[in-house]
Amino acid sequence: MSTTIEQPYVYRHRELVEPDWTRFPGWRDVTAQDWASAQWQRAHCVKNLKQLRELMGDLLTESFYADLERDQAERATMSMLVPPQMMNTMVPSTDEPMPAAGADFTRAFYADPIRRYMLPVFSDRRTDWPSHPHATRDSLHEHDMWATEGLTHRYPTKVLAELLPTCPQYCGHCTRMDLVGNSTPQVDKLKLVGKPVDRYAAMLAYLQQTPQVRDVVVSGGDVANMPWKNLEGFLDKLLEIDNIRDIRLATKALMGLPQHWLQPDVVEGVGRVAAKARQRGVSLAIHTHVNNAQSVTPLVADAAKAMLEAGVRDVRNQGVLMRGVNDSTEQLLDLCFALQDDAMITPYYFYMCDMIPFSEHWRLSLAEAQHLQHSMMGYLPGFATPRIVCDVPFVGKRWVHQVDSYDTERGMSFWRKNYRTSIEGADTEALSRDYVYYDPIYTLPEAGQQWWREQGDHEATHAAAVEAAAASREASLV
Ligand code: SF4
Repeated sequence: MSTTIEQPYVYRHRELVEPDWTRFPGWRDVTAQDWASAQWQRAHCVKNLKQLRELMGDLLTESFYADLERDQAERATMSMLVPPQMMNTMVPSTDEPMPAAGADFTRAFYADPIRRYMLPVFSDRRTDWPSHPHATRDSLHEHDMWATEGLTHRYPTKVLAELLPTCPQYCGHCTRMDLVGNSTPQVDKLKLVGKPVDRYAAMLAYLQQTPQVRDVVVSGGDVANMPWKNLEGFLDKLLEIDNIRDIRLATKALMGLPQHWLQPDVVEGVGRVAAKARQRGVSLAIHTHVNNAQSVTPLVADAAKAMLEAGVRDVRNQGVLMRGVNDSTEQLLDLCFALQDDAMITPYYFYMCDMIPFSEHWRLSLAEAQHLQHSMMGYLPGFATPRIVCDVPFVGKRWVHQVDSYDTERGMSFWRKNYRTSIEGADTEALSRDYVYYDPIYTLPEAGQQWWREQGDHEATHAAAVEAAAASREASLV
């Protein structure tokens, strides 16, 4: 991780470039017309090793495929699904010649930031602590806060509606790995039990009966996987609820499959919903998920601009902070400038990577995240300076400098909550309790690592840590 950047900083505008997909042997004959087709993109996603081999030919060595295969069998929490648009941003070879097939290309592919999170391999992961002892499948405990199936109510005035459990692309680090995507050898996915139509009706009924909710994140999965007609039907009903003032559509596909959002019927549909929203005084926005400047291509910029022209109020980015993907000030600034200057996408948040199984190699410590936040200040307009946030289980998003106390030796940060949601009505201690977040153990000083090695019962460790933090706070208040 690097937070140093050459001073004084010299801003350089970089033109966006669509990498040439015909550099991959499997796409040598693919036309611009095919490439622009959402249908072609969906039909040519890389879903398994065989398809990756067919695409790459002899660019990659056998050892890479073996590394990937082992990860699929022993570590992956998400199945493989990479749209051509995303594959094409790996080793883009736009500024320099493409590395030679074999060892050179494989080395560049291993180092590629998009590959690192879309096609994780066994050798990427930690072997000392592949998972944190407190990592869990539903690390944000969203299911515990479901008001109706798929509707998470964990903030006083806003909810998350998970309409569907699929996406056009599967990210290796997905925080909703419990529910989203196909089962893997390691993870048998949770299945939504209600029929979609009944689930949506229950969500809408809850929102009608809960006037304190004014803001709905319409998500999944990714709303780009919902037939537009069905999504528009849901949004129309949402717009009929008086208390709803903000609607945010969550779609990584704006970057991973911009062709979807450029389809004329989708653009027209977004225009109809946006007009209705404006008439009703509701802000309709799109939230996307871009982690590295390499992903911002002219097609992504076109899709974002098409949405703005169709009438959405804003397109915002919520990236995920990950080691090897975007863990330097330079990478974060490059991404934010590409989004803000060329794609009209507002840099909004970077989340710390959540504590799901096998994510330790991606996760940064809170101290590292704080340094990155500090190092990014002052370069972008204030409204486009993203906040780095920690999504604290049972609390919600907290800016990294809001931590209440922090044991850097054992890598435990303690956070406070300032609201109770409707489902915590009876929990009188919700606001005085400490909520814990954990740093990756391998980033700790040796004494801290040794302490973790000596812990047998991690549940007891967790409880003792919370108690100790509470006691030290009480002592400091005396
Ligand atoms: S697009 Fe979002 S929900 Fe889908 S796999 Fe990626 S992180 Fe998960």
